[in-house]
Amino acid sequence: MNIRIRRWHFEWHQRALYITRLPDPKCPDCDGHGAVTEETAFGPEYDYCHCWDPTPVVRIPLWFRRTESVPF
Ligand SMILES: [Zn+2]
Repeated sequence: MNIRIRRWHFEWHQRALYITRLPDPKCPDCDGHGAVTEETAFGPEYDYCHCWDPTPVVRIPLWFRRTESVPF
């Protein structure tokens, strides 16, 4: 389950809700792509732009499972 509201991405994964911030579509550095290219001595290097965070900002575990039986 994936829901996208403006710059926020909501993902339902393994009984938890992950909220991730997406790149800024009006970002002057990456134009909303979320990645910036940096020219180094070893060639171009790709990095995440400062306008977003690829790791989930919030992780909300939702455990509604009831223990119906004792496992032993
Ligand atoms: Zn950016």
